[in-house]
Amino acid sequence: MRQLSETDRDAIRIAQDPAYARWLAQITATGGCAHPIHLTGSTTTRDVTTGEILHRYDTRDEPGERLSVRCRNRRTTVCAPCSRLHAADTFHLIRAGLLGGKTVPATVRNRPRLFVTLTAPSFGPVHHTGDRCRPRRDGGTCGHGRRLGCGAIHASTDLLVGQPLCGDCYDYPAHALWHAHAGKLWDRFVIGVRRHLASSVGLAQSRFSDHARLSFARVAEYQKRAAVHVHAVVRLDGPGGPDDEPPAWGTAARLADSVHATVRRVLVCTPYSPAIGELDLCWGQQFDVRPLSSDGTGPDDDAVAAYVAKYVTKGAGETGAGLDHQVTWDDFDAATVTPHVRSLMRTCWRLGGLPEYAPLRLRAWAHTLGYRGHILTKSRAYSTTYAALRAERAGHRGTHADSLPGTVTDAHWRYTSSGHSPGAALLAASVAEELATNREVARLELAAGESERPGASFK
Ligand SMILES: [Zn+2]
Ligand SMILES: [Zn+2]
Ligand SMILES: [Zn+2]
Repeated sequence: MRQLSETDRDAIRIAQDPAYARWLAQITATGGCAHPIHLTGSTTTRDVTTGEILHRYDTRDEPGERLSVRCRNRRTTVCAPCSRLHAADTFHLIRAGLLGGKTVPATVRNRPRLFVTLTAPSFGPVHHTGDRCRPRRDGGTCGHGRRLGCGAIHASTDLLVGQPLCGDCYDYPAHALWHAHAGKLWDRFVIGVRRHLASSVGLAQSRFSDHARLSFARVAEYQKRAAVHVHAVVRLDGPGGPDDEPPAWGTAARLADSVHATVRRVLVCTPYSPAIGELDLCWGQQFDVRPLSSDGTGPDDDAVAAYVAKYVTKGAGETGAGLDHQVTWDDFDAATVTPHVRSLMRTCWRLGGLPEYAPLRLRAWAHTLGYRGHILTKSRAYSTTYAALRAERAGHRGTHADSLPGTVTDAHWRYTSSGHSPGAALLAASVAEELATNREVARLELAAGESERPGASFK
């Protein structure tokens, strides 16, 4: 046993425990979560009239007298199994808003629906991929003596891509403040689209909600230049939401017109600062509006849902824009980020010290470069919720304490600790790997079945 590592010895100790089978079942139920939460407590279900105990669950009967549940972290770098589940939930959440399902009626697929991408404006020239990068015949240098052009063809893996041509010319305060106001820019955008729709059909703006309802789900993504851009599904329903048909004037073309007109008009003014002044923030000139048609001519709805779901598993750290944890001034030098991102984090820290920007909490959000929104945001009527999807899954597993009529359930739960011992982490990782392999095999089998269908090859 002496040659074995600490981790291996720990894993063997767990596997030899008489309660190992039950322990493994718990870990499998968490999907092999890398950082499970451990709880102690009990749930008792009684018959209201007779007082008879119909069901009782107590962690005193479990290995280690505790129950392990998922950490539910959305980031792959923190917990791969939970992030996969979160991505799957996001996929279903977005898809239900596009095609129906999960309590959303299938008629939503015939509503005016758009896939909209909004970007940040330019805060200074950066190196880019594709064709020749910023060619300039006349050469020339900026006030800091750096070349104004580049002329190279950068591969997408080139570390220069997204970095400014001159870090001293780049408007870091505007970039950080734009991130800090991105949520507000989005809110103003949604209000603006509603207003434009109302006035385009001669409705008083205050009456819009009597006639139609605008729903959306949006996801934020960091670009190479470390600026967030936004992908959103926008849908127009009747005043009652998903169950209600929009009025005759509510067409995809009119909705698209209103989006086009509004993107250019949205303006958010930063609080006055003696050091920075007052900045007028807007969306970038580059934006994209695509109608999602139900006749199969536009982008595929499933592809759109998958595209959105992909982004929610990425943390700021994984995309190379920022870090996954909070930082302080002393961390900036050692952080494994590009000089551009480091400058942005430092700018957030500096601006965060100014009293006029205190409400923006730029220091607490320096690691995400000032952006403090959620990665996924949706309006209430868009579709189902993460909580409903989790409850449905729990119901499928048979662990959900259904409140049957005539019964009462009494539950007492307490958090005890979280995480795995080294051996348990090793075993959980292999459970997660096995589950992932099973899923992949099932997917391939399904795909093989599809291709055997007559006519499938003509699609
Ligand atoms: Zn987890
Ligand atoms: Zn370049
Ligand atoms: Zn310069």
